[in-house]
Amino acid sequence: MTAISSADPIPTGGPLDDAQAQLAAAVAHLKCPPGLHEMLAMPRRELQVAVPLRRDDGTTAVYSGYRVQHNLSRGPAKGGLRYSTAVDLDEVRALAMWMSWKCALVDVPYGGAKGGIAIEPRDHSDGELERVTRRYTSEILPIIGPDMDIPAPDIGTDERTMAWIMDTYSTTKGYTVPGVVTGKPISLGGSLGRATATSRGVAHVALMALSSTGMEASKASAAVQGFGKVGRDAARLLNEAGVSVKAVSDVDGAVFAPDGLDISRLSAHVDREGTVSGFDGAEPLAPADLLTLDVDVLVPAAIEGVLTEHNAHDVQASIVVEGANGPTTQAADEILTTRGVTIVPDILANAGGVIVSYFEWVQSNQAYQWREAEVRDRLEERMTRGWRDVADYAGAHSLTYREAATALSVSRVLEAHKLRGLYP
Ligand code: NAD
Repeated sequence: MTAISSADPIPTGGPLDDAQAQLAAAVAHLKCPPGLHEMLAMPRRELQVAVPLRRDDGTTAVYSGYRVQHNLSRGPAKGGLRYSTAVDLDEVRALAMWMSWKCALVDVPYGGAKGGIAIEPRDHSDGELERVTRRYTSEILPIIGPDMDIPAPDIGTDERTMAWIMDTYSTTKGYTVPGVVTGKPISLGGSLGRATATSRGVAHVALMALSSTGMEASKASAAVQGFGKVGRDAARLLNEAGVSVKAVSDVDGAVFAPDGLDISRLSAHVDREGTVSGFDGAEPLAPADLLTLDVDVLVPAAIEGVLTEHNAHDVQASIVVEGANGPTTQAADEILTTRGVTIVPDILANAGGVIVSYFEWVQSNQAYQWREAEVRDRLEERMTRGWRDVADYAGAHSLTYREAATALSVSRVLEAHKLRGLYP
């Protein structure tokens, strides 16, 4: 095995370039033959569908939908479903590849997948969102199922979306199939603790990263970009652990309180107003400035590609915990690493979601619900193990946490490939 060379090409494009560059570095480190690299670089299965929608006013609109299954060697495909106008095939490919590595890293028996519709959910009524979800589900139905590919919530989707998918799938089968999705409402077989699992994992590794650098949580500060399913509870849980959360943002704006935000008051404001903007317990902040604020921990928990070569030099945090998938471009990663910033990579930092999704799938398939304390203990145990595996591997091979996490994951996927052999 060799250390990953800094001479490896730095791509300048979108998330797929970043994902491919990370894979290339990992296979070079593992001395993986070119044929196997090619197999890992190419998604196993891709489906692009037109999703027509009858709008409330009687007109028709058509949206592009995607489902990409990157790798199936370690088990059924698993990954979220995203509703955003930024969704395109390359973004979904990148996110599907990262899911393969994430599942392998925290040792859940899945391959990676991702799906999306290029739609702005905020421009649609509940009825329209239900119809578009059901139509998309019927279009991708041949390739999903509890043993094939199991969607979950991501940007712009939630437990209600999962209930519609489960119902559409179950109706066509003629019986209820709760294991076809995770992130379902509790009353439909969702797992206790799933809704906060990603955030809990983010907070857990952030606290481990703080302690590994000798910082006390009660003396540390943080900024969180994104106040959705991941960012909101990550901010709350960090705050509960004693960290002063000085700034948060969402797509509409950012707020800043030098002595720390009152997260529960801010949450109540967001429940009322739908945005962090206008919160009377803080000052407004230019959203871009949140990323370069003078804090110890920066948690990008919104979208990909926000830390770039243009702002990485100005990041003041000493720890970046990637709540979002792919928030740091390859170029920014190099700059931050050179500057000594510790990056806890997405495939580790936000793996809590897929860990508890796995627990939910097990519970759904067994028709048996675990206690929330059990879910939390098992989540914490797996996140701690993931952290230790990555830290040990990084130390043993002189790699960054991202290089170590990717190499470790890719080696596990390769191991499955080798054991299964190539058919025919
Ligand atoms: P979400 O839709 O619930 O929330 C996204 C948040 O980001 C919202 O507050 C939105 O306003 C904000 N946002 C969007 N664009 C922004 C911008 N340009 N600047 C600042 N804020 C912006 O989505 P989520 O489920 O919280 O997902 C966030 C990230 O976490 C995504 O990268 C997703 O892939 C990743 N992730 C989510 C889960 C999960 O369980 N939901 C699991 C793993 C990873």
